[in-house]
Amino acid sequence: MRIATEEAFVTPAIWEGWQRVLAGQPEPGFVKMGASVFGDSPAARDIKARLLDLDDGRIATMAGHGVDFQIISMTSPGVQAFGPDEGHALACESNDILAEAVARHPDKFAGLGTVAVNAAERAAVELQRCRDRLGLRGLIVNSHSSGLYLDDPSCAPLLEAAADLDMPLYLHPREPSPQMVDPFLDYGLYFAGWGFAVECGTHAMRLIMSGVFDRFPKLRIILGHMGEGIPFWLPRIDNRYLLQVKTGAVKKLERLPSEYFLDNFIVTTSGHNSYPALHVMIAELGVARIMFAGDYPYESVPESIAWLDKAPVSAEDLEKIYSGNARRIFKLT
Ligand code: MN
Repeated sequence: MRIATEEAFVTPAIWEGWQRVLAGQPEPGFVKMGASVFGDSPAARDIKARLLDLDDGRIATMAGHGVDFQIISMTSPGVQAFGPDEGHALACESNDILAEAVARHPDKFAGLGTVAVNAAERAAVELQRCRDRLGLRGLIVNSHSSGLYLDDPSCAPLLEAAADLDMPLYLHPREPSPQMVDPFLDYGLYFAGWGFAVECGTHAMRLIMSGVFDRFPKLRIILGHMGEGIPFWLPRIDNRYLLQVKTGAVKKLERLPSEYFLDNFIVTTSGHNSYPALHVMIAELGVARIMFAGDYPYESVPESIAWLDKAPVSAEDLEKIYSGNARRIFKLT
């Protein structure tokens, strides 16, 4: 049994909404993204068709790849590209569309809700609807909203709701925020090979260092792409944090930064097919906090499966990574 946990979709309205944003005064990173991903190349048209499909085509592709079940969520940048009113309305419609697809194919799909972080009070209400009315299993946030990060005090109602409702928050990358994008605009660095991980890893570190997990200790964050680099850095993050506390440069937290990461975060593979990286994740987080993700339709899911099938782990651990952990974390029956 293989459950893929970072599998993307889009709604027609959100796709059209992006074109409006791109035609207006968009962020420089989003312009670069738009040119490559939302263009009119055959590859871009193929991805669009796959993102929009929540029925037979997707299910046939899953069967061909050897994926039994998808946890589906809004693709990047999702509603994080919009202002609060438009973003909230598009998020609610998208959650209805995803819940209907799950209802049509309950043995194949579960879904994560999407929310407008820049309308956090309304997003908290929508998250409750996602869980109680729509049966969604968590939420996705596609990193920053025009430079707004989740540690901002305005986002507290949403984080409180995610913690109280026990809805894991998938913090998914997008291109770097306007505050940090300039050095990423050359050489394709804004994109998923580097800029996405720097952006999303920084977002996760902002959550840790701001004390969000002291305020919301039950909040659970999922990071794709082997933890966006953070597992590799944990010892140094703690070491330099301790020095900075002594010099007064940073605020003292209740615990070490790594302790929040190890207790509050879950990571997925999502196309990062590297045994050394998997080894670091197992050594730092343990097998119980690692899930398989295909990153459909952006990555080669068959390549990821061929890689993970041969990973140097026990059959019992492989079962946890492929399905057992996802069942527990998303409360699948
Ligand atoms: Mn992805």
